[in-house]
Amino acid sequence: MFLSVGVRFEANVEALNMVETAGNYSKHRRVPYLVEEDGKLKTVYVPALSGESLAHAYQEHLVREALSLNLPVCDDCRRNEFYKSMNKVHLKKKVNPIPDDPKKIEVAIVQSCVIEDVGGFLYAEKPPVRRSSAFQVSYALPVKSVALFATSEPQLHARHAQMDSSSKKGNASEQMIYYVETGTALYGFTFNLDLNAIGVSAITSEPILNENEIKARREAALKALFRMLSSAQFGAKLSRFFPVGGITEVAVAVTEHPFVVTSPIYDDYIARTERRLKVLEGLGEKYLFTVATGEKVPEEALKEAMDYLKEQGAF
Ligand SMILES: [Zn+2]
Repeated sequence: MFLSVGVRFEANVEALNMVETAGNYSKHRRVPYLVEEDGKLKTVYVPALSGESLAHAYQEHLVREALSLNLPVCDDCRRNEFYKSMNKVHLKKKVNPIPDDPKKIEVAIVQSCVIEDVGGFLYAEKPPVRRSSAFQVSYALPVKSVALFATSEPQLHARHAQMDSSSKKGNASEQMIYYVETGTALYGFTFNLDLNAIGVSAITSEPILNENEIKARREAALKALFRMLSSAQFGAKLSRFFPVGGITEVAVAVTEHPFVVTSPIYDDYIARTERRLKVLEGLGEKYLFTVATGEKVPEEALKEAMDYLKEQGAF
């Protein structure tokens, strides 16, 4: 089964994705964006969060959920260092000696780590072994209709150090000023999870694990998404730049085969998703579509999708 979630969230004065520091200035990630204004297209640079940043946060939540269900997580992933068995040094911690057969390498990694099962890996040695991630996440970008109002602005901060004249060296200052560029926007992003890929070989398409273990891992994968959205624990600098705002809308589709909700950067994404699903229904596909806008809170829609998946025997 396949889950696809469109999320809209309002974030004011956030520093969720910083890309570089030049001197005392740390810069927010920005991307070029095509918007229509007065019937003309123009490019604007808007604050954004990379899919990599969101994926990292998701996998951190997955570590926690997996451990709480007593599922295996390798030592690297436990520390939220997602090397993903990238070379012999990291793979040897899971299987030693390292087998020559790519299938055996995949089995060893999937068996010993939920994060690499769900989040994929690339073992870049001989033979190379690659596993695609069972989850996908887009960049978070400003909603199109209001993208022109999205802004990034530097904020001035000061750091102080107590120094007496004996410890003061050269021109070292007791006060250092620095700037953090903050973004403000109504963002949208898409998150997909292919539940059928969990615990199944990417090489042979055969299950690697028993059914109970696969179901438990699917449960962990769903709970991690729930927790990530519910707690808003994604992105950087939350300690002092926790975004002011929150999730304004979610749209969740559960289908038998891959289907992705229309991107929430478009204002009509809910209606369009619904129409697209109706067409699929006509072709014999069963689905659940639930949205949280206004009255319903995001957790209620996510819970509904999880209950439906449970009814369908997904976990
Ligand atoms: Zn791992």
